[in-house]
Amino acid sequence: MSQMPYADLCLYIDGEFIRGGGRREQDIVNPANGEVIGKLPHATREDLDRALASAQRAFLTWRRSSPLERARILRRVGELSRERANELGRGITLEMGKTLAEGVGEVSWCAEHVDWHAEECRRIYGRVIQPRLPNVRQMVLREPVGVCAAFTPWNFPYNQAIRKIGAAIGAGCSVIIKGAEDAPSSVIGIARMFHEAGLPPGVLNVVWGVPAEVSEYLIDSPIVRKISFTGSVPVGKHLAALAGARMKRVTMELGGHAPVIVCDDADVDRAADMVQALKYRNAGQVCVSPTRMYVQKKVYDRFVARFIERTRELKVGDGMAPDTVMGPLAHARRVPAMDRFVEDACRRGGRVEVGGERMAGPGNFFAPTVLTGVPDDSLAMTEEPFGPIASCVPFDDIDDVLPRANSLEFGLSAYAFTGSTKRALALQDGLEAGMVNINHFGQGLSETPFGGIKDSGIGSEGGLETFDGYLTTKFVTQMD
Ligand code: NAD
Repeated sequence: MSQMPYADLCLYIDGEFIRGGGRREQDIVNPANGEVIGKLPHATREDLDRALASAQRAFLTWRRSSPLERARILRRVGELSRERANELGRGITLEMGKTLAEGVGEVSWCAEHVDWHAEECRRIYGRVIQPRLPNVRQMVLREPVGVCAAFTPWNFPYNQAIRKIGAAIGAGCSVIIKGAEDAPSSVIGIARMFHEAGLPPGVLNVVWGVPAEVSEYLIDSPIVRKISFTGSVPVGKHLAALAGARMKRVTMELGGHAPVIVCDDADVDRAADMVQALKYRNAGQVCVSPTRMYVQKKVYDRFVARFIERTRELKVGDGMAPDTVMGPLAHARRVPAMDRFVEDACRRGGRVEVGGERMAGPGNFFAPTVLTGVPDDSLAMTEEPFGPIASCVPFDDIDDVLPRANSLEFGLSAYAFTGSTKRALALQDGLEAGMVNINHFGQGLSETPFGGIKDSGIGSEGGLETFDGYLTTKFVTQMD
């Protein structure tokens, strides 16, 4: 492995990169081998207060900035992201384990999100409403909501942060972001790029700390007007409740447990290959990961055999190795979490077709796993695995499978394969999910809305909807 340093870890407050000063530090650990690769400074109370004060001050001028100026800065960050994709992607791989191709790809591909916000912020429109009296003018104005607090996770650290920052800054808000402490380097990289692109001090602040302490402090502050969180359902509900008690807006991108419905008239081999490739991406630590495979009885054996065959072929290893297809889990705590799903499945009569156990050696490696025969009420079929575990079960017909697919409180992503337009329509209408993919995977583009329903969240990121959570609506009526 190259001896290039991992990253310069720091806070970014009021336009200054800050480290040292006796602040508490957290070890950053490479999940492929357990080595400590960096020390992340935590923000003190004074740091958080300074971030709040600078965001409040910066908002007063940034809210009046021209969308052309915002677009210029956002576009520059897109360019810089592509130029630095190798360096930023390498940092992501070292700190959270995904393959280098996935780490670099995350940055170069998701740089499009910042381009999208640069383009769309020029199209934030209001409207004029026909008056009832001839000398009255009625208008609807969209205004930036104010100082935002954003909390992002470790599974796509660049992607999640750039989407929230792009939306806040493009709308004319200032933002304080706390990324995931386990995977901080690309969020600091984003701050550097905005700094170099000429973003005024205070419009973006990056802080680190104990997640619950930082989020509660920021949400409680009267300066913060909007909360955006990506992470688990329980934490999302907790933060939404704190925000609700203070009547603050929220965008919540929470967990999922995506059903995949494979009908007997589908191209079954193609479906098996596509689902298998998506399932083990990022070691299954993806909110839209396909997790519950419902396969129609006639094609069940064929689908499962192919899915298993492909899964056996997966090369698991250090994400920095060029032939690795699946890296380690991001944390040691995720390994026992996987054991729990497998043990429960076995206790309830399920079969481990492949994998099902941790792998020998250092690092947080868990073998890619396929379970069959698991009952619908097993943990694997009801709780989000957030790891490399896939469960396959048979179904009879659409009327039988739709209620099973919709039976959980999750409603993020759903997948289906069918050769029939009629069935496609029934699935499209019947699946309770924020995003439905039929015969292909096409979600998460900058121009398409990404978000869940039910417990999977509130609001959308991307698409035309992307600024909705960052703008307020003001009605103005005026008489001559
Ligand atoms: P976790 O719940 O401890 O942490 C998940 C994320 O939420 C982390 O980034 C963490 O920093 C943050 N977090 C936790 N408590 C917080 C709080 N009080 N305030 C602000 N942020 C807080 O779980 P974990 O073991 O790190 O990850 C596993 C679980 O997290 C999974 O089951 C999955 O549901 C969820 N997760 C979801 C996503 C997603 O994209 N929706 C991403 C990462 C993790």
